[in-house]
Amino acid sequence: MLRQQTSTLIREYGTGEVKRNNKRYPHYLNFYDIPPMDNISIEEFEKFALDRLQVLKALEAATLRNKPENEVKEHLQELSKQYLPMHSNDSERVYPLDEERRKDHVSHFILRLAYCRSEELRSWFLKYEYILFKLRYLTVSTKERQEFLNHQNLTWKILSRSDKDMMKADLQAASPHVVVDTETFFEVEFEKVLDMVARRSVHLRGGTAYVPISDQVTLVMDEFKNRLAKALEITAKEFPKLDEDDRIMPILNNINRYYLGNSFANSTKVTGNITAFDVDRLVEHFPLCMRHLHRKLRDDKHLKHYGRMQYNLFLKGIGLPLEEALIFWRKSFSKFSDEQFQKNYAYNVRHNYGMEGKRVNYTPYKYVYPESKPAVKIHFAHFETNGSCSKIINNNQPGPEEHHGCPFRHFSEESLRVTLASVGVRNDAYIREIINLVRNKHYQVACTRYYEITRGGERGMMDTIEHPNHFFEQSYKLSIKQGDS
Ligand code: SF4
Repeated sequence: MLRQQTSTLIREYGTGEVKRNNKRYPHYLNFYDIPPMDNISIEEFEKFALDRLQVLKALEAATLRNKPENEVKEHLQELSKQYLPMHSNDSERVYPLDEERRKDHVSHFILRLAYCRSEELRSWFLKYEYILFKLRYLTVSTKERQEFLNHQNLTWKILSRSDKDMMKADLQAASPHVVVDTETFFEVEFEKVLDMVARRSVHLRGGTAYVPISDQVTLVMDEFKNRLAKALEITAKEFPKLDEDDRIMPILNNINRYYLGNSFANSTKVTGNITAFDVDRLVEHFPLCMRHLHRKLRDDKHLKHYGRMQYNLFLKGIGLPLEEALIFWRKSFSKFSDEQFQKNYAYNVRHNYGMEGKRVNYTPYKYVYPESKPAVKIHFAHFETNGSCSKIINNNQPGPEEHHGCPFRHFSEESLRVTLASVGVRNDAYIREIINLVRNKHYQVACTRYYEITRGGERGMMDTIEHPNHFFEQSYKLSIKQGDS
């Protein structure tokens, strides 16, 4: 399965020109009914999966932030160029269409495997694949759309003129946005358009729904959604029967938690190196998770293991060098003697900086395969050890007396309200908005709204917060721009 597949791409190396070659994938659109039968390398497997995930996550961020459809489309085009380029058959320039579509096809199925494993994952994947397909569908020419629909046998019987005249009043009542006289209507079994039936946006008679041609996109999208939902259910049932390949299983089991952004490993970009004495002055730029840890550290003169680790990695990311980190932690743990500090805590600080133990610089996640398998290093660069929001939110739930974690995820509603008010979010409407996002489990979006509200910005002023150091950098840069730092 993991043998490198011979590329079907035809290249003219002399001129660097890539010939169009879309015999294998004649259509730009794909319902992903047939799984790919290729052998692919482990490198392609991971790269394809991550690249598609970048696109779906960007769609998620844009959707949760209520960005208008045209902005989402533009953003998608930009991202697609980088991660998942796709061109239609009538593109003016020549592109390696088969290669692009193969990547689209294979990457969809890899993520389908990864996201079939729970109801929550299935519904996430379905939602953002649906949006991706819809944006593509709306972008491609009518001719290409029709060719694709014909290929899929998605053609619907057209309502005859005489029947249309007979039902004119009912059709108009159900579809007030069209002019019945000039509109074409399809006859569709009502089970195929349940969403439209539920919205009462089609005329229904004797088990047949009459759908205006201008709503054809809804028919196609319903078809896409129904097919993918069924396919995900089937994949979920088959998943446990898959061979336990220890090269791909770690990817499939964890991919939904990968963090794809900046690692902020040595992020001294905005502040330069800082000293132990700068930390208090910078707290105003910290996200709530780090403000909370800082306050608890000051109150208790101690933090438990995961709190120290979360906060230490963050401080490292904002530019605190190891020597200064040791001073910071020593002074903060003032209720302990030097000996106790050296014995119980200094090691962990140095360990986070890669100076103890296996000397791992705590950023890139590296997975080394067992010796019996080819040792392929997975460079899911920022997974697990780097303190991204998704790691903080999903791993190591805080227990009693522990203060790590994400306030939006781990605080009670009441504590969160009090905390928000204490950091300046006093407007009831804002608090309600944030609490609603939290109730719907959009913790990072809630954090982003908190950022926007407290920095006097408009909704959408920044991308969704993915990493506490991302929050810090944005806040610090903004203060420099405003000339108050
Ligand atoms: S969303 Fe991220 S940055 Fe914001 S509070 Fe939670 S963990 Fe911290």
